[in-house]
Amino acid sequence: MSRLQAKYPGESEYLQAVQEVLESIEDVYNQHPEFEKARIVERMVEPDRIFTFRVTWTDDKGEVRTNLGYRVQFNSAIGPYKGGLRFHRAVTPSMLKFLGFEQTFKNALTTLPMGGAKGGSDFDPAGKSDAEIMRFCQAFMLELWRCIGPDQDIPAGDVGVGGREIGFLNGMYQKLAREYHTGVLTGKGMTWGGSILRPEATGFGALYFTQHLLHKAGKDIKDKTVAISGFGNVAWGAVKKAMQLGAKVVAISGPDGVCHVPDGMTAEMNDYMLEMRASNRNMVEDLATRFPGKAKFIAGKKAWSIPCDIALPCAFQNELSEDDARELKANGCWCCCEVSNMGCQPGAIHFFQHNGVLFAPGKAVNAGGVATSGLEMTQNAQHLSWTAQEVDDRLHQIMQSIHEQCVRYGTQADGSIDYVKGANIAGFMKVANAMLEQGII
Ligand code: GLU
Repeated sequence: MSRLQAKYPGESEYLQAVQEVLESIEDVYNQHPEFEKARIVERMVEPDRIFTFRVTWTDDKGEVRTNLGYRVQFNSAIGPYKGGLRFHRAVTPSMLKFLGFEQTFKNALTTLPMGGAKGGSDFDPAGKSDAEIMRFCQAFMLELWRCIGPDQDIPAGDVGVGGREIGFLNGMYQKLAREYHTGVLTGKGMTWGGSILRPEATGFGALYFTQHLLHKAGKDIKDKTVAISGFGNVAWGAVKKAMQLGAKVVAISGPDGVCHVPDGMTAEMNDYMLEMRASNRNMVEDLATRFPGKAKFIAGKKAWSIPCDIALPCAFQNELSEDDARELKANGCWCCCEVSNMGCQPGAIHFFQHNGVLFAPGKAVNAGGVATSGLEMTQNAQHLSWTAQEVDDRLHQIMQSIHEQCVRYGTQADGSIDYVKGANIAGFMKVANAMLEQGII
């Protein structure tokens, strides 16, 4: 860690993600001298390669704009590079390195043969018109297309990249490559190679994982109150499944504040989240305006200020601080399943783990999204579309397997389960052994 800190000063998210994994695997690593001999850790913490490119496009006023685009191909030991694209003004190489690193472990947990990658741009989609989004996506793909391919690297969505953006990206890829197969991006539309349930998959998978975690702890999700941050695709799927399982979603937050929904979100309110997202306004206050009397907007507050049993961070990295964790616990919260990638700060995780709050990390909880991308790739390779039931069954099995892997590697001497350790060790063992078996490359 100290060598990495000296080498990459200022890459705080990347260093935070690596530190968490190295702390978890220390004991296991020391029991395997063959890993040390092959310098597995030194190799695993560095991406295989990073592409950086200029993306120039024209806005609606005719002004020329320039952004930076990236693709971080992190690790291909267990399969072709796989991971999303993030369009957000705060995107930096450090952020994408952390996400690519996490993705490598997450993808290993899915049981599917996928390596880890991440990409994106510092392009800010907020307030952009459809035409601007299209021109940006086309300009981005003009550079990216040479780095990706259905057997090399398969991007998908992430923050700021949903079905609309994947459509524009895929259209341009086919135009440039003159290859009309459907397997180079996932998260596609239903009529051009997409998988049913992919939009819901991250949220659904997170709730399936939560169900298994609660079951193991002798609890049930029915009638429990849930607080959720974010109103993107992931939060939408999480709300939908939480309601189906009989839980009550009492808080939903955005960058402007939180909506308190004492009687619980309804399907109508959840679908309105899709409209709020499509508007690019990025304000959760609109929910309270649209449903007066049902949702009460509190400006500047997080979802973690509303009393709940279960907290599900679904927005952005480091969104839940130690202070938030303390507030949650003081208000009666006893479980936090991280759905966003590295959504909890280290102090928050430490607090949860030492104060009897069940906690599971994003790379296990949110892996249902990329797992269903893997199922989309399988359907594309078969030139078939499965039914919703088939996709849902497989997603459920995968989440159950991820939970089992966490239990297998995370059970402590006192019988408690450290899900952070469990997920990190399970992912690490798979990738490390795959690297070892394939030699020094
Ligand atoms: N961006 C999602 C993640 O963080 C999905 C990636 C994918 O489907 O390739 O896992």
